[in-house]
Order: sequence, then structure tokens, then C-alpha cells
Amino acid sequence: TKLKVAVLFGGVSTEHEISIVSAKSIMQNMDKEKYEVIPIGITKEGKWLLYTGKIEDLDSKWTQFSIECFVSPDRTKKALVKIKDSEATFIDIDVVFPVLHGMNGEDGTVQGLLELSDIPYVGCGVLSSAICMDKAFAKKLALLEGIPQGHFLVVYKNEYSAKKDYFIKRIESEFSYPVFVKPANSGSSVGISKAKDREDLVLAIHEAFLYDTKILIEQAINAREIECAVLGNDEVFVSEPGEIIPSREFYSYEAKYIDNSSELIIPARLPKEVIEEIKDLAGRIYKIFECCGMARVDFFVDKDTNKVYFNEVNTIPGFTSISMYPKLMEFSGIPYSQLIDKLISLAIEKNRQKK
Ligand code: ATP
Ligand code: MG
Ligand code: MG
Ligand code: MG
Repeated sequence: TKLKVAVLFGGVSTEHEISIVSAKSIMQNMDKEKYEVIPIGITKEGKWLLYTGKIEDLDSKWTQFSIECFVSPDRTKKALVKIKDSEATFIDIDVVFPVLHGMNGEDGTVQGLLELSDIPYVGCGVLSSAICMDKAFAKKLALLEGIPQGHFLVVYKNEYSAKKDYFIKRIESEFSYPVFVKPANSGSSVGISKAKDREDLVLAIHEAFLYDTKILIEQAINAREIECAVLGNDEVFVSEPGEIIPSREFYSYEAKYIDNSSELIIPARLPKEVIEEIKDLAGRIYKIFECCGMARVDFFVDKDTNKVYFNEVNTIPGFTSISMYPKLMEFSGIPYSQLIDKLISLAIEKNRQKK
């Protein structure tokens, strides 16, 4: 019998559209002999709907979604609730694959629902997802563990509003321009800017606060962007690092999804000892953040000195067939559809271990 896998995509997130592209690619590459795929879209408003069209036709126009279908938190059921013509029926499922990027999906919220339901799910758990999504907590934990990273400052909206001059002065004394300003909970570079002077800084802070009530100021690192794909629960596999050459001044939303000209270089061309350092750090960081299933661990490597700095962990990384995570795994000998098999079996293994 086939495993019934519910794939979640869309979501109440600034990365809603990207999630649909990732999920489509995953569903197209799932072995139809092994899996019965149940595609569930979450609208921008947060409505859960069953997708009844062909996977090839899935896009962000939201046609062929009409039947309400959501995960029941009732752990005696381990099922989806489907509501059609005001009648509710349960659909048993074996695994959930949340392909949701950003808030309300990559941040532990959906994982919390899935913990309640006792249905195995792909990827990191509640705490790990939440900490990795929150760049302020992630950086504080990394600091505690002696992970190398650039200088950063966390600023809350209410405090900034009350003492703007104090914060601008403090930032200018602690950092030198350029600095990066980012919402604590960000993804796909939404709300992130590089500030070169005070005028930029004020605008960047204003922009970041549009997305979150907590933001980070970071020293800009003149660096190459290096990413590692990590896979596993207790036993962890770390891929060779890959490099991104952004098409813009930094790896912005436009550089990620609009230009189509940012380059992925696999493997990254770096001295052997730097590669080893990055892989070692990626494995350590994965453990520190208690990740399981998968995560993409991202670094900066100083262009002049090759010094390695931790940037962030993405617990549900971009997953189109040309995205870095699956590309790195493919380079390591795990092709896309086998990667999906592996992630699903890791999800089942993790759920069994808790018993
Ligand atoms: P993702 O889409 O990978 O989840 P994100 O939205 O979580 O990204 P970051 O990775 O923190 O955001 O930052 C986005 C990009 O901004 C980086 O890839 C890099 O190009 C640039 N950047 C961010 N912080 C810094 C920094 N401190 N120094 C130099 N560049 C930076
Ligand atoms: Mg991120
Ligand atoms: Mg991300
Ligand atoms: Mg990033």
C-alpha cells in the first residue's frame, strides 16, 4: 500500500508564492508508486484547501481549490478533516510534508499542530523551527556556543520608537557602515536592506519594522555566500558547501527570484581547510539548534581573509529542483526523489522514537 503524504504549501507568509513553487517541484518528484499525494494549499488569509487539479497546473492563482481540508489536532484520529457540502469526513494520513517558508509554517507553529496530531512530519520540530526562524534568538544561542559570527544588535519597535536618537547613536558607535538591517523573522530577504549612511539606516529600520516588531542590525561582512545542506536525525550528513554569486549588490529578493541570474557554484571553490571548517561548523550548528530531518546552514566567508561567519539556518529551505538544498544533496549522490524518500523516512523514524 502507498504512504499517504499530505503536502502543505502557500501559507500566511511573505514567502507564500515561493512555497508553492517548492511544493510543486516536490510533488512532481514524489514516486507515485510509493506515495499517494494529498496537496493542501493554505491561502494568504489562512484557509486550508484541498487542491484537486493536476500537479503540473498548480500555480499561485488558486483555481481548483474548493474543498476545505485541514489537519485535525485530535491525536486519536491522525487524520485530515475534509469538509464538502457541509459534511465532514476524516482522511487517514501517514506523513505531512510542510513545504511552507517563513512565518506560520517554518517557525514551529504548524509543527506544533502536527505534534498535537501525532502525525509524523518532515523537518525540524517546534523549538528548533522557532529558534532558527528567529534570527535574534538564533544569534544569541550561537554566541553562547562560541560559533563565529558578525557583530549584531537586537532592537524592539517600542523601544526604538521611544528612543530613536539613542539607537541611531548606539548603532553608529558599535558598527561601521555599511550595516544590514533585517526583521528578526525574515526569509527570502523580505524587509532586508544594506545601509551605507545614517539616512539609509533610518529608512532601513523603518522598512524592517514593517515586517516584525523585532529587528537586527548586523555588521556587513564583505563576503562570499556559502551554504551547506544537512540531512538526518541523530546521525547527520553534511554536504559539500556551495556558493552563491548574487546578481545584485546582495542576495536580495530580486536576486533570488526575479533576475534569474544569480549563480550557484557546486562545490564552492575554497581551500580544503576552509571547506572542512565550514562542514564541521554546519554539523555543530545543526546539533546546537537541535535540527532534525533537514536544514540549510548558511555562512559568509570573508573575501580577503577567508574567515568563516555563521549567518543563519533555514529549516525549510527553497526546494525547487534548481534550489541550493536539493542541488547540494544531488552533488553528494542523493538525487531529488531519493531525497524526498529519505526525508519521509526520517519523519517516520522521529515520530516512532518519541513513543
Ligand atoms: P533566506 O531566503 O536564505 O531565508 P533571509 O531572508 O533569511 O534569507 P539573510 O540570509 O539573513 O535573510 O540575508 C539575506 C541576504 O542579505 C544574504 O544572503 C546576504 O546577501 C545579505 N546579508 C545579510 N546579512 C549580511 C551581513 N551581515 N553581511 C553581508 N551580507 C549580508
Ligand atoms: Mg533565512
Ligand atoms: Mg529562508
Ligand atoms: Mg539567507
